[in-house]
Amino acid sequence: MAENCTHDCSSCGEDCASRQTDPKDFLEAPHPMSSIKKVIGVASGKGGVGKSMVTSLLAVMLGKKGYRTAILDADITGPSIPKAFGIRGRAVSDEDGIYPAETPDGVSIISANMLLEEETAPVIWRGPMIAGIVKQFWTDVVWSDVDYLFVDMPPGTGDVPITVFQSIPLDGLIVVASPQELVGMVVEKALNMAKTMNVSVTGLIENMSYVQCPDCGRKIPVFGESHIDEIAKDFGLKVLAKMPIDSQLTALCDKGEIEKADVNYLDAACEEIIRVCAL
Ligand code: ADP
Repeated sequence: MAENCTHDCSSCGEDCASRQTDPKDFLEAPHPMSSIKKVIGVASGKGGVGKSMVTSLLAVMLGKKGYRTAILDADITGPSIPKAFGIRGRAVSDEDGIYPAETPDGVSIISANMLLEEETAPVIWRGPMIAGIVKQFWTDVVWSDVDYLFVDMPPGTGDVPITVFQSIPLDGLIVVASPQELVGMVVEKALNMAKTMNVSVTGLIENMSYVQCPDCGRKIPVFGESHIDEIAKDFGLKVLAKMPIDSQLTALCDKGEIEKADVNYLDAACEEIIRVCAL
């Protein structure tokens, strides 16, 4: 420890054994030709809870409000964004960098699927390689004129999400959970990771909260009773949406037409993003 240690490593140049590294020390600069106003991560404690669905809908809905939106698909081993938007084919690049694909409604997208010869080829890369690709999606992709860039984070709290948290400066973070997941401690783990990485959480979204009976309108909690309000209270966070299982959404994703979704489930989440991450 330095002789006159103040325990504030941010204002001290000594390279001593007790030095605490700030997670933000590893932040990477975006491509010099990029122009990105705000970056919002979308994370979950585990896969399959609808993180990509929420990411896609947020980008679509904010796009409909007139914002220029983009998606960096950092879920390298389970990339489902291009399929939901009907994007096929490879990413284009030149000596300046890699260019995202653009959907009919103007959402810019980059995903590992756009680098593979075959979209069905499995990504069998180890953690450091996966984390390296995500970093490149930030440093080597030319993100032109983007208001809100959504990062579909790798699920869980392992190596790869940690690297993403460390390398991409997030202005906000949406945490997606299913009611079932909330019973296990996975959401708390994701929230605690965000806290450790000094990322401020914009709010929680519960997905697959219920199914609405088409005949009587009753909301049936197929995955059990929700605990999201308790968790939100414990962490001092807002619940921004409780989204139902809606077969219309699954069908639109399967057809690559998620931009045709006309649902209001995420209206409050969009408003909160606009409020907290004002341009
Ligand atoms: P994750 O990104 O968390 O792995 P996805 O967004 O890929 O999860 O969702 C998993 C599957 O569930 C996909 O087939 C998706 O279309 C479907 N899905 C997600 N949320 C909903 C919903 N609210 N209603 C209907 N289907 C959904």
